Amino acid sequence: MAPDSADASASAGDGDGELVSLYQAQKKIYPRSVSGLFSKWRWGFVFLTQIIFYGLPWLEWGQRQAVLFDLGVRRFYIFGLVLYPQDFIYLTGILVISALSLFLFTAVAGRQWCGYACPQTVYTEIFLWIERKIEGDRSARMRLDAAPMSLEKFLRKASKQAAWIALALWTGFTFVGYFTPIRELTGLFANWVMGPWETFWIFFYAFATYGNAGFMREQVCKYMCPYARFQSAMFDKDTLIVSYDASRGEPRGPRSKKADPTVLGLGACVDCTLCVQVCPTGIDIRKGLQYECISCAACIDVCDTVMDKVGYPRGLIRYSTQHAMTEKWSRSEVIRHMIRPRVLVYLAILTTVVAAMMVSLSMRIPFKVDVVRDRGTLARIVSGGKIENVYRLQLMNASESPQRYRISATGLPGLVIASDNEFAVEATQARWVVVNLQLPYDGAAAGSHTIHFDIESLDSPGKLSEKSIFIVPR
Ligand code: SF4
Ligand code: SF4
Repeated sequence: MAPDSADASASAGDGDGELVSLYQAQKKIYPRSVSGLFSKWRWGFVFLTQIIFYGLPWLEWGQRQAVLFDLGVRRFYIFGLVLYPQDFIYLTGILVISALSLFLFTAVAGRQWCGYACPQTVYTEIFLWIERKIEGDRSARMRLDAAPMSLEKFLRKASKQAAWIALALWTGFTFVGYFTPIRELTGLFANWVMGPWETFWIFFYAFATYGNAGFMREQVCKYMCPYARFQSAMFDKDTLIVSYDASRGEPRGPRSKKADPTVLGLGACVDCTLCVQVCPTGIDIRKGLQYECISCAACIDVCDTVMDKVGYPRGLIRYSTQHAMTEKWSRSEVIRHMIRPRVLVYLAILTTVVAAMMVSLSMRIPFKVDVVRDRGTLARIVSGGKIENVYRLQLMNASESPQRYRISATGLPGLVIASDNEFAVEATQARWVVVNLQLPYDGAAAGSHTIHFDIESLDSPGKLSEKSIFIVPR
């Protein structure tokens, strides 16, 4: 490995010992700030997603946190819904719905998720906002970076780092607040008595936020995100993408505002390069669709501003499709072509999965039961010559109120419960109970027999049946 990799990463020049790297150094990108319709949408999504993320753990539902994934007691609370590990199917359902929604959305409208709602975009936008407030816009930041160290430069850089670190820590703290009740966590954090897992995850999540949004930025989208790699498989020529209208824009070139471009033989692009300067991934959309484009529309906003200034119609860069560009379709034709077999198939599957999940949730019985044969007490003969088997049942109350449950057993003639058969379980709690089943001595042949425990809630509608085995010794 060593000799090969050494050869691959650097090779000697023609005998003079010069090293030639095969890897291009990463150029720092200084995105220029932009305003416009799509920028407003992006900030709208930043506010919406962050109000939900930072606010949700503080929301109370009855006597507890509204959304809490309590891994310690293996219970998820989502508003009125209490989920046990046995409800894992719902988590699977949510993941399938999320994936199908992403497929559908990507087929229709490209990488809008990346440009507006992906956490990487959202946190990069917030970190960039802090950077602009402290260091200034693009040219000021470039000047500051190029300048030698001075007190002003040091103070600006240190203030930016302090603000980034504070925000990253708050983000890590909020993340852990979804798993440990956040009010409890606040006390633990303030007194610095958090457990090892809480400490690890707060700092790990904070470090990931700080690194990804402060430094890695577009490199996460370009090199690390798997979605960027496979999303092209969901694109076709009728998918909405950010497109430069080359037939209108070329040949590009600068001109005075009063000049007639047709006389000069120029297109609408004044070659101001602002679309490149605002691009968070540093690409030139005029070169066509590139996988680095996250569909954020910053170039659309800035180009529309330029078009307004020079008095040309807006939309030189716009959301459009490859077909629409080549066939010169109108907006209504573009929308009509969005409804195509691939989209309808995604929509049909998505609707089916959502409907199945809704039906399943509405029919869900708000308790669960696990039956375990007591391995310490196998089948035995008890007084009266009866055969007894002992079971442990875990009764899990998945409702918000205390419940009483009645247990009965069926499957063999003469099978009776010889212990308590009614049990109370507190709201959202689980309880282990012991149940003794007895059978007359000649009630069944030697061997194992299938039986059922029927568990009925006495306080709310719902009945469950759990299979088990009754053993008759030889
Ligand atoms: S912002 Fe518009 S006019 Fe300026 S270079 Fe880009 S495409 Fe051309
Ligand atoms: S090319 Fe335009 S839409 Fe694509 S990432 Fe750059 S600024 Fe955003």
